[in-house]
Amino acid sequence: MDARLETIRDTVLARNPGEGEFHQAVTEVFESLGPVHDRHPEFLEGAVLERLCEPERQIIFRVPWVDDAGRFQINRGFRVEFNSALGPFKGGLRFHPSVNLGIVKFLGFEQIFKNALTGMPIGGGKGGSDFDPRGRSDGEIMRFCQSFMTELYRHIGEYTDVPAGDIGVGGREIGYLFGQYKRITNRYESGVLTGKGISWGGSLVRPEATGYGTVIFTQEMLKTRGQSFEGQRVVVSGSGNVAINAIAKAQGLGATVVACSDSSGYIVDEAGIDVELLRQIKEVERGRLKDYEARRSNVTYVDGGSVWDLDATVALPCATQNELDGDAAARLVRNGLLAVGEGANMPSTRDAVAVFQDSGILFGPGKAANAGGVATSALEMQQNASRDSWSFAHTEERLTEIMVGIHDRCAATAAEYGDPGNYVLGANIGGFVKVADAMLAQGLI
Ligand code: NDP
Repeated sequence: MDARLETIRDTVLARNPGEGEFHQAVTEVFESLGPVHDRHPEFLEGAVLERLCEPERQIIFRVPWVDDAGRFQINRGFRVEFNSALGPFKGGLRFHPSVNLGIVKFLGFEQIFKNALTGMPIGGGKGGSDFDPRGRSDGEIMRFCQSFMTELYRHIGEYTDVPAGDIGVGGREIGYLFGQYKRITNRYESGVLTGKGISWGGSLVRPEATGYGTVIFTQEMLKTRGQSFEGQRVVVSGSGNVAINAIAKAQGLGATVVACSDSSGYIVDEAGIDVELLRQIKEVERGRLKDYEARRSNVTYVDGGSVWDLDATVALPCATQNELDGDAAARLVRNGLLAVGEGANMPSTRDAVAVFQDSGILFGPGKAANAGGVATSALEMQQNASRDSWSFAHTEERLTEIMVGIHDRCAATAAEYGDPGNYVLGANIGGFVKVADAMLAQGLI
């Protein structure tokens, strides 16, 4: 790392102790930015990096609610409003027991660059709670969401901060959150949340967008080597929103997706995952992946273990951060891997990224490859602002254009800075320069 940047990075780490994931995300970005600061000394003089690493606002709040047994439950809520240089804060809400401030900050920090790369007018933020939705009834989920919004509503708005979904927050939760916002504020403010239902202000393609976008980005990377998804053997981690839609899109492009996982284990279906069955089990019945084995022949369910033990030519990690480590990366590379497209945020550890890059594997980092979700959220905001709703085909076409554009910008930036094919460098520099220019133009804020 450039020595000037290392000093700033060390200060950031010391000021934010115990936030491992945030440290990891900051370090990874700083490692790319040395050459930018050689060309743009004004970024150092303007203390852009120091400002960028300090969120504009961090909100932590109590979320009290009552469970079905009548017991009082207390969770912790977070919203980190990281950077609004390019537009209102924008980023999802995560409900998972592992959520803490460091995780929300890593996600919010990544979101700044991702949102800049989309070319849309959106800043970066993220939020969530350590609430565990697993095994909770609809009533419990609703009461939790209502309590969460009873504090969050003060801080959000279509021109201020626009949350969406993430792990544990899908259409059902966005519905309960929106209902409570409307009730408290007496405003039908469609633009305050994205990921809404189609009949009340949502956008077609938003549910599919992150998974589809990841596959479109990966397809563009494959094209640079004269390849495509046709005939590829794909392994996906996760079986949530991003994973299911990545599987659907990859198979639509002629690949065979042979495996996917949840936090308990993984399934292997050599004939290719039956996406409709998977959707039925995970989205309609809210069941576990293990249920898939009983309902389809020639399927193996592996309890525990890692989906990355399987061979694949394309790997799409779509579950969570740091789920693919250096050993798994080395094994995948030895067994014929061509490309990795990160549907999740920071799923590959730093060691894994190093293995992929040193081996010449096509590697699309999450902040570029999974930007289709937030880009389509911005399209939802556009539709809300103009009180319009677009067709599936038109919205998907916009998503495809945006993803191809992100791919091409990352590739062009990497080449401009002397490291063609390095999408990590391209994404970090491309996103950073856009935000840094806007921050300098807006003065010391
Ligand atoms: P979902 O809640 O729909 O699905 C998450 C999936 O990942 C589930 O299969 C879950 O398994 C698994 N998972 C979650 N945590 C862990 C863990 N600690 N270990 C192993 N498996 C785990 O979330 P999404 O699909 O929306 O999000 C997945 C990833 O994509 C996240 O990194 C998210 O930040 C990122 N992302 C999502 C976007 C979106 O639009 N939704 C946009 C951009 C990025 P289980 O059911 O067993 O918990």
